[in-house]
Amino acid sequence: MFGLMGKTLRVNLTEGTIREEGIPEEMARKFLGGRGLATKYLFDEVKPGVDPLGAKNKLIFMSGLLTGTPSPSAGRYSVVTKSPLTNIWSQSNSGGRWGVDLKYSGFDGIIFEGIAKDPVYLAIQDGKADLRDASHIWGKNVLEATGMIREELGEKFNVASIGKAGENLVRYAAVMNDLHRAAGRCGVGAVMGSKKVKAIAVRGRQKIKIADPEAFQKVSKKQFELLNESILGAGLTAYGTNLVLDMVNVCGGLPTRNWQTAVCPFAEEINGEALSEKVLVKQTGCFACPIECGRVSEIRRGPYVGKNGEGPEYETVGTFGAMCGISDLEAIAMAGYLCNDYGIDTISCGSTIAFTMECFEKGILKKEDAGGMEIGFGNAEAMLELVRKIAKRQGIGDLMAEGTRLMAQKLGHGSERFAMNVKGLELPAYDSRGAKITGLAFATANRGGDHITAYVQGPTFLASPFLVVEESEIGDPLQENPAEAKVVKEMEDALTVFDAAGCCKFMGMTLDAEEWSGIISALTGWKFGVEEFRKTGERIYNLERAFNVREGLTRADDTLPKRLLEDPLPEGPAAGHVNNLAVLLDPYYEFRNWDKTTGKPTAEKLRELGLDDIISQVCM
Ligand code: SF4
Repeated sequence: MFGLMGKTLRVNLTEGTIREEGIPEEMARKFLGGRGLATKYLFDEVKPGVDPLGAKNKLIFMSGLLTGTPSPSAGRYSVVTKSPLTNIWSQSNSGGRWGVDLKYSGFDGIIFEGIAKDPVYLAIQDGKADLRDASHIWGKNVLEATGMIREELGEKFNVASIGKAGENLVRYAAVMNDLHRAAGRCGVGAVMGSKKVKAIAVRGRQKIKIADPEAFQKVSKKQFELLNESILGAGLTAYGTNLVLDMVNVCGGLPTRNWQTAVCPFAEEINGEALSEKVLVKQTGCFACPIECGRVSEIRRGPYVGKNGEGPEYETVGTFGAMCGISDLEAIAMAGYLCNDYGIDTISCGSTIAFTMECFEKGILKKEDAGGMEIGFGNAEAMLELVRKIAKRQGIGDLMAEGTRLMAQKLGHGSERFAMNVKGLELPAYDSRGAKITGLAFATANRGGDHITAYVQGPTFLASPFLVVEESEIGDPLQENPAEAKVVKEMEDALTVFDAAGCCKFMGMTLDAEEWSGIISALTGWKFGVEEFRKTGERIYNLERAFNVREGLTRADDTLPKRLLEDPLPEGPAAGHVNNLAVLLDPYYEFRNWDKTTGKPTAEKLRELGLDDIISQVCM
């Protein structure tokens, strides 16, 4: 097979067995790889209603179709499972080069099933895989665990690992690879911990076959040229993802003090420039990426001096900074380092801490509930202590490790109103009351409250070549515009292909469907046109939705926290605004050809996408 290695590993942890399986080419063409192929396995193999942390859930790692090839940013892999945070389909995606090394080891993916009796790690090298005892590594965090595994196997092994948070089943635990890169969202690290898998170490020199190397090189060269000329690329290179903080704040969309306002008064202290001045050491990037938006950083002053690592990314600054009311960039960087080492998603963690701070502000939680700790907005020391407590499930950290949805259900007293999650997944740092179309994207994203499923928030919106309506049809971001519902649908589909292909979504700001379908054609030898590109994304997206429908999800779940729907923003350019989803949801379902009452994909749509085999499970 071209592009893919054509093989997955099935690891039955209960029995301790490992089996190689082929990937049929017809299935590869329909679902490509990464998020697409992994979702196909999950849908077929995980029955509705299983416990996400039980033996019947599966944990699937899958590299993308282009991963490991010299196409720009083609270094990504996806982890797909049923989430313990949301109880629905979930995907988490990561860069670095672990996904590349997985493929070079001879396999596109790994399917974990069952639960191991004792902790194990999986080692794969050039087509051979074995499960090894990890009892001595269990209890270690990511940096130490990675070091110990490399000592055992050799420095050239690339390791994806969980830290203490995954072992302790923190519902938003991450899987970390390349030490600092995270498959962060939805608690995939907790599923790995529940299966008693500490890490996966990969190494190999297997070659990826390219159907038309000359054409591939030509298209790839053009893509690199386009990226090198792009303004967004230049901005990301200069300031990393924190580039957007000022832009979002100026639009009145930076959630501050747990979304009580969206204008951050101390943005200048935590923006891209401040990051460069205070903690930046150098920039870094993922495999084959000309942009290098990553930041290598070190704390140069204050109580955490000498601590270092990667980040902080925009979302880390937005959640631990603005949402928690903390202007101390060094403390924010420290929170990011802690999360990376414990293996925790910074978005859910920062957001859960901000929610907890508001519970204290409102008297719903008291000092006695936190072992005497003072917890309030702006308290950096408390924030860092809470990260540690969450990872270890100590004291109040045990409740916080459940995420904002379950916390609010337990605490009551109206806290559900400001538990800022959708379908259980904590929202990222963009206030959708300041950009209405973003509200629709948050409400409908298959994995829950998420910014990169459609990527239509704030300043990035107009930068995408995947826009499907005329610029003249895009109106005021503060008004609900039904035509823009089509943009959300098309962006969701297009970016699904990015995850299946194993490419970074930042490339979607510059390169269009024609360029991507050209490179897929050159790689695989398929005549993969723009129409097939779009249909493939739509097929995968509908399959994910079908998984969620089978789990009982309905239109009523495509909603936002009450604060966004009912509490007008108090200040800034979006003052007085709330989200009005009713205006946008009907057109969205129409564009998708989903039933407007139930939110289910129609039989007609599934048939059109070649998903006839699942109609009886979805459209009853
Ligand atoms: S743009 Fe950033 S996240 Fe994307 S591949 Fe490049 S370095 Fe990685």
